[in-house]
Formats: sequence, C-alpha cells, structure tokens
Amino acid sequence: MIKLVLDPGHGGKDPGAVGNGLVEKNLNLELSMRVAGKLADYDAAVTLTRSFDTDLSLDERCDIANNLGADLFCSLHTNSGGGTGFESFIHTSAGTKTESIRNVIHDMMADYYNSVGFRDRGKKRADFAVLRNTVMPAVLLENFFIDNPKDAVILKDVIFFDRLAEVIAGGIVKALGVPLKSPQPHGEQGSSITTPFTYQSMTPGQDFFSEIARLKAEGWLNGEHQPDDPVTWGELAAVINRLRDR
Ligand SMILES: [Zn+2]
Repeated sequence: MIKLVLDPGHGGKDPGAVGNGLVEKNLNLELSMRVAGKLADYDAAVTLTRSFDTDLSLDERCDIANNLGADLFCSLHTNSGGGTGFESFIHTSAGTKTESIRNVIHDMMADYYNSVGFRDRGKKRADFAVLRNTVMPAVLLENFFIDNPKDAVILKDVIFFDRLAEVIAGGIVKALGVPLKSPQPHGEQGSSITTPFTYQSMTPGQDFFSEIARLKAEGWLNGEHQPDDPVTWGELAAVINRLRDR
C-alpha cells in the first residue's frame, strides 16, 4: 500500500506566519486534515506528522516519514511576505522522480489557482530541511499569502479551502497512481464488511482525527473539534438535522 505523509507546517510554540486574523499553523493543520479526508476512498495509508497543535522539530517530521518508509512526504504551508498565489518546492538536488511527482501536483494546483483568479508563482527548488532530510520524494506547497487581504478571503472561505484540499489530494493520487479502495466482498450471510479508514495514527486513538476530518470535509461539522471534546445536545441536534435535511 502506498504510504503518504502529510506534514502540517509549524505548530505549538511556532505559529508560522500570521495575518488577517489567521494563524498559519492552524490553516496548515486544517488543510492537511482535509487532504487526508479526501484520500479516505483511496488505497493509501495516510499519516500526519502532527494531528494536534503540537511542537515538532523539522528532524522529527523527517524521521516520521523516513521510519515509515513513506512514498511521498508532502509539507503544507501558507505563504507570507506580501505576494499572492501559490508556489511549490522540491529540494535543490531532487532527482527526476521527485520532479515529475511535483510537476503533476503543481499543474493540477495551477489549474485550480487560475480558475479562482490567483497566480501560479512557479515550480521552485530550495534547500529546506524537510526536503533535504527526507529520503523519499518530498514536496513543500505554499498556499496563498496569509498577509494578503485578497488571499485571506479565500483562506477563510470553507468551500474554496475544501476545494484546495481536494485538488491537492487529486494531485497526489494522480502523481503516485494511488488506486481507489476495492469494494469489500459481501459475506455468506449477506453482511457487508465495512472498510476501515486506513489513516495511520501516530499514537493510539489518534485515528479519530481522520473521522472528524471526514465529517468536516463533507460539511457535517464546522470549527475545531478534538476527539475527546464533549458534545452538547445543541451540537448533536445540529448534526442530526444536517443529516435529516440532506
Ligand atoms: Zn510555513
């Protein structure tokens, strides 16, 4: 099975860039969870380097992917510094395999960005630690500029943001040739076997994040929810009504 590592940039004490009321570490985590949710129907083991707002060194991020023997390391960031649009990075000395994977993902993203009126800033190379110290093909995606009011509008729009996750997931699937999960055969008694979601958790219990990510990706849940958060009757009623209104 193809192993994918999604790396939400920053976290914990390191917020990354901030602007327009947005904090990069949170955007990166939400985008990564949404990408993981979009990959749920595919026959891939998806691992997030962090599923919480936690500190994680660049070496630790690389170690996770290296120890897993991942097929792709994809780091997700939000840009800053006064520009607009998106750009992708591979390491300065990356080979042709990494380059072709990046090109597929990048080109699909460029179509999306162009369709919503934003710039493709280009296919770039850099000596970033997470690209240098990962042994598998590694890409780093810089999505929109957190400090640009026009970009921030899109970052705050759940429909566009979710679509971005879909495009990134689609790019990964196409670049690596990830197959859809095969349907489970029905048993003798006609019982169907539920396909387990193949999200691979970092610690026991963390796979519940993928379940929350799926509901968020499909619009059943809004906002930040941790697996251990209590649910009020009001929240439960809202989710049930969303199902009833479908
Ligand atoms: Zn960043």
